[in-house]
Amino acid sequence: MYTLGIDIGSTATKGVILRDGNEIITMAKVNVGAGTSGSQRVLDGVLSQSGLGVSDIKYIVATGYGRNRFELANQQISELSCHTKGVSYLVPGVRTIIDIGGQDAKTIKVNNKGKMESFAMNEKCAAGTGRFLDVMAGVLETTVDQLGALSAQANLDMDISSTCTVFAESEVISLLSNGVSISNIVLAIHKSVAKRVCGLARRAGVSPLVVMTGGVAQNSGVVRAIEKELDLPVTIPSNPQMTGALGAALLAYEALLENKSAV
Ligand code: ADP
Repeated sequence: MYTLGIDIGSTATKGVILRDGNEIITMAKVNVGAGTSGSQRVLDGVLSQSGLGVSDIKYIVATGYGRNRFELANQQISELSCHTKGVSYLVPGVRTIIDIGGQDAKTIKVNNKGKMESFAMNEKCAAGTGRFLDVMAGVLETTVDQLGALSAQANLDMDISSTCTVFAESEVISLLSNGVSISNIVLAIHKSVAKRVCGLARRAGVSPLVVMTGGVAQNSGVVRAIEKELDLPVTIPSNPQMTGALGAALLAYEALLENKSAV
């Protein structure tokens, strides 16, 4: 039995097809999110990679910012539930999830049964989200996938004082014009994201094992800064940007079983 989880985020759309609730058949991602052709492109991608037709998929769960606009979905489920499910499946024993996406950051406290106990969320401000890093990478004439390696070369521990993205952008421009190296600026940017997100995490409650997900988990510089700020190791699952879609596919399988037993 095949199920599909689709995570239509603010910035990227991700899809996972599962067989029998335990075997990942295929995954796809496009770098456009809600309100774009992203969901159709991801659907086309997972179907063509797996050789399946849409009628082979027995249940579809949509999650993410754009979940209510995906008409093929049998059910919509919040990102908090889908991330908790996906991470608990990949990393049993997780107690804290830090998810940094394109336009928001969430932290989830997980109980010893793999269920969400509490959460905290920043969806009002770009600071501490992928958007902040996307803007800063643009100012520094680099790309987000280079930021981790750049900050590893830093030799000066300094801070960026502005939390607001617009003011921080001006501050970075001023640092650049004063000859501060890009690596040192990137380190300061990562520290600023880590401070903000760890403040959020402390609100929900932090305990080991800490797992980070979302596109920003691919930035080793942010991961190092969070580890330093929390003074705890942070585990990154394989494909951390896909955990919401994976959780959605797992929940789709559970819904299918429940529907069958109800008949
Ligand atoms: P959403 O679900 O809100 O669309 P994602 O969890 O998909 O967000 O994360 C998107 C963010 O991930 C982007 O804003 C970008 O900053 C970051 N990102 C994407 N790919 C990479 C990468 N290879 N390295 C570092 N950061 C990345």
